[in-house]
Amino acid sequence: MIILVLNCGSSSLKYQVLDMKSENDYSLLAKGLVERIGGTMGILNHQVPDREKYSVEKPVPDHTAGISYVLEMLTDKKLGVLSSLKDIDAVGHRVAHGGEYFFRSTAIDDKAIANIEKCCELAPLHNPANLLGIRAVQSLMPEIPQVAVFDTSFHQTMPDYAYMYAIPYEYYQKYKIRRYGFHGTSHKFVAQKACDFVGMDINNSKIVTCHLGNGSSITAVKNGRSIDTSMGFTPMEGLVMGTRSGTLDAGVVTFLAEKENLTTSEINALLNKKSGLLGISQISSDMRDIESGAGSGNANAALAQEMLFYGIRKYIGSYAAAMGGLDMFVFTGGIGENSSVTREQACEGLEFLGVHFDKDINRATRGKDVLLSTSSSKVKVVAVTTNEELVIARDTMNIVKNK
Ligand code: ADP
Repeated sequence: MIILVLNCGSSSLKYQVLDMKSENDYSLLAKGLVERIGGTMGILNHQVPDREKYSVEKPVPDHTAGISYVLEMLTDKKLGVLSSLKDIDAVGHRVAHGGEYFFRSTAIDDKAIANIEKCCELAPLHNPANLLGIRAVQSLMPEIPQVAVFDTSFHQTMPDYAYMYAIPYEYYQKYKIRRYGFHGTSHKFVAQKACDFVGMDINNSKIVTCHLGNGSSITAVKNGRSIDTSMGFTPMEGLVMGTRSGTLDAGVVTFLAEKENLTTSEINALLNKKSGLLGISQISSDMRDIESGAGSGNANAALAQEMLFYGIRKYIGSYAAAMGGLDMFVFTGGIGENSSVTREQACEGLEFLGVHFDKDINRATRGKDVLLSTSSSKVKVVAVTTNEELVIARDTMNIVKNK
């Protein structure tokens, strides 16, 4: 089954085409990125394994035009990988927010679209873009089945005492203000992958998954279900991130707004775009720059990375308490898969939990699945690569097949 996976942002769209023979037998046919949609000049990047990258600039007025160019490239005689659009069996979309409507991935019909629309208020930058992608496919390929895979749905198993904020209850009733959590596709995928990797039964396990990238979140996965996660109502809560502050006292927000005379959108930009590793280090939001800055004696870069390491350690400890034990924790995402310093420092002092970390293996490994704990370690520590597009393709295949 050939699946087109789409991840539409407000001015960009990422795509992958996967040939899914089964859940575990698949191949990537092509992938790419369309950027600056709606700007004067757009950029299209298209990549087919073992072929040279193709890149072109042309105006891309909207998402329909962007997807239409992607479809043209996919069926082009020289650039393409498909003989015609009829080869595509289904389209899977990454959708940012499913609110309390979606507990799992779903076939897209009028009711699903209406509910995704209702969640736009909760993810004003992302859900409208996801809907543009869905509508563009409806107009370009009206017969094709489409599936939505949500960043939030894996976390819908959290108990109310973990997802509620202690503000007047009426705001939950009126606006649905609560913790939702994000990166759900990745947390679910790496929890299962890590269990398969070490031979653990996910249905009888206490796992902490650490997705560490530009945006980072940590999830407590008990018996395969998310019971708590560090991101909240928005992806701003939790760990120190590239440019997001992570958790802070809400009192800081009102204090700063008054002192600096800031509007809500200025506060929003400050906490989402100017904070985190960038805000503290004053050099970069990129962990590679932070590491090299800290290595060459920049005190602010060293402080920024220490804040992240400390935050990861605290979440691992608190989620072990939340689950009443810990069998394994998992690193993934750009930082989790590649930064041996982060992995080592995040594990520092966790021996009391039964963590014995193999520093040599850790330092020698980057970007692949690896067991980082020693054979005597009570708690297993692993790094595994994530693959959100594969999850979207799998869910799409399963939903379309079962219809
Ligand atoms: P996103 O959240 O945008 O998907 P990624 O998961 O790709 O981001 O993660 C990006 C982060 O991973 C950046 O901070 C980058 O510096 C970090 N990263 C990538 N490779 C390395 C590396 N070799 N060492 C340290 N950090 C790395």
